[in-house]
Amino acid sequence: MKKIVVANWKMFPNTLQEAEDLFRVSVGAIVCPPFVYLEELSRLRKVAGQAKIKSVPELGAQDIISGEILRQFGVKYVIIGHSDRRWKLGEPGEIVNKKLKLALSNELMPIVCVGEKSRDGDFESFLENQVLATFAGLASGQIEKCLIAYEPVWAISTTPGARPDTPESALESIKIIKDTLIGNWKLEIGNSPKALYGGSVTSANVRDFLVKNEISGVLVGGASLDKEEFKKIIEIASNV
Ligand code: PEP
Repeated sequence: MKKIVVANWKMFPNTLQEAEDLFRVSVGAIVCPPFVYLEELSRLRKVAGQAKIKSVPELGAQDIISGEILRQFGVKYVIIGHSDRRWKLGEPGEIVNKKLKLALSNELMPIVCVGEKSRDGDFESFLENQVLATFAGLASGQIEKCLIAYEPVWAISTTPGARPDTPESALESIKIIKDTLIGNWKLEIGNSPKALYGGSVTSANVRDFLVKNEISGVLVGGASLDKEEFKKIIEIASNV
């Protein structure tokens, strides 16, 4: 099964030129740039399409705005519930849930981020409740269309003292997430959404995550902004 690589550029790079250069080396990945770069990157995709070049990155958005506008720019994916929004901007679970519904009704594939702030205490119940709130009111067929990114906040490179999760403990959390969905929405086991891991992924650790069958891909922040490093990550992912 082909592994999925998502680049979350967050508020980088600083110039359009750098964004274009980075985009060109990100073939094989889903790139989620800042909104202001979407128009130009979508133009690059069109030019490549006209030249019959098939190997171009896919485009994703970092948040949902009008689905219609996003689709005009060839955007197929949208990150929902990223920890920067949930924790730094205080986006409540009900808003995450509304955005998820909006993405689905606009036929965008949501990349739904969930993850505990710290691994202490009863993080299992925390994760379970976050999943229940995030997917509340969705039909099982809609949940099956999502990609879920397990991103423990303590593992995200911008969190002070961050360290990557281990593949084994990421698998435990992914199991909690999937069991919650399967148990509450009666999903058929084979139809549960694909799970990605995100949090300090680099070329040095990406293979350890991707060799696990239950991890269908990675969501990469900081390392997706370094051309050589990201090329390595894509290369490793395509050979797992
Ligand atoms: C992220 O912010 O989604 C992320 C995974 O960041 P990083 O890879 O830098 O930890």
